[in-house]
Amino acid sequence: LSSENLTEQEARQAADELRPQLIRWGKEYYENDQPSVPDAEYDQVYNQLVKLEEQFPNIVTSDSPTQQVGGNVDSDFTKVKHPIPMLSLGDVFSKEELNNFIERLQKEYPEDQEFNCELKIDGLSISLRYENGILVQGSTRGNGKIGEDITKNIKMIPSIPQKLTRPINIEVRGECYMSKTEFLKLNERRQIDGKTTFANPRNAAAGSLRQLDPKVTAERHLSTFMYNVADYSDLQATTQSGMLKELKELGFTVDEDFQVAYTIDEINQYVDKYQQQRNDLSYGIDGIVIKTNSLPLQMKIGHTVKVPKWAIAYKFSPEEVKVKINDIEWTV
Ligand code: NAD
Repeated sequence: LSSENLTEQEARQAADELRPQLIRWGKEYYENDQPSVPDAEYDQVYNQLVKLEEQFPNIVTSDSPTQQVGGNVDSDFTKVKHPIPMLSLGDVFSKEELNNFIERLQKEYPEDQEFNCELKIDGLSISLRYENGILVQGSTRGNGKIGEDITKNIKMIPSIPQKLTRPINIEVRGECYMSKTEFLKLNERRQIDGKTTFANPRNAAAGSLRQLDPKVTAERHLSTFMYNVADYSDLQATTQSGMLKELKELGFTVDEDFQVAYTIDEINQYVDKYQQQRNDLSYGIDGIVIKTNSLPLQMKIGHTVKVPKWAIAYKFSPEEVKVKINDIEWTV
């Protein structure tokens, strides 16, 4: 579909056709943890919609998947309000788009010359609330404004500290994921038991965390990497990279592959390095996230209804690694 020669009417009609399809795929992915199409196919259709809506802003509807953080709130769980919303990320699929994004930021905010590059962990977002350094609540992202209370499940994950090294009030955000090894073991077990298998580690992690019985979560051996806080004034750090170090000091597990970059070349080198190494990692990554390093500048740059304007995800090409066990192929 090329939006170049479309009239507004044609674009509206095309967008109206794409949205129900994306909403249906979103339900399968976020609610049932069983997607029927690969992420790359979803992304392709999603980006067609983004392009149409960018070209014809009048056709944007409030229920468009482009205007909402994807995710659901299952009625089996108590709802948790996120006073500071949990956002998604804008994404790009080529170096050219990535470089344009960085150049635009540098031009608009000349003070923006320092970026933190991080791996984009392929799991699901969680938020952890601590009072006086004690873990009091864990929640899913849900639709960004309202998530699910998964405190009991969160307490089953060994990498999540029940008590921090300082008695502070803080809400820490990050990714819950399942390692490739745990994913393969789980699917193998499920196959032997005649149960449905998970399409990939991300869906297995989501299905394992959103369990009414926390014992099931415990058996699934989930892991976490934390990379954000709801309100950075709760920290001493004033940069994204400093925040990651401080989160580690507080007792969280952070992914230590992050790196500060000062030029587009350095950012591109980081992207290339991990694009090559991604299959060697013990956990799945689906891209790289580049963030403005200064936390006050992140605040100044702000966000849209869905994504921060100071960060971008460079998504890897959909080259997927297949592992065959007992004649069944799984993507890891
Ligand atoms: P996303 O996964 O593209 O990116 C945003 C998320 O990245 C954040 O919310 C956070 O959880 C995560 N993340 C991982 N590492 C991070 C880091 N270092 N810093 C910051 N964030 C980090 O966006 P989304 O809204 O969660 O999901 C959309 C994606 O889900 C699509 O790109 C699509 O591939 C997939 N999807 C697939 C289907 C399908 O049917 N296959 C359906 C719906 C969505």
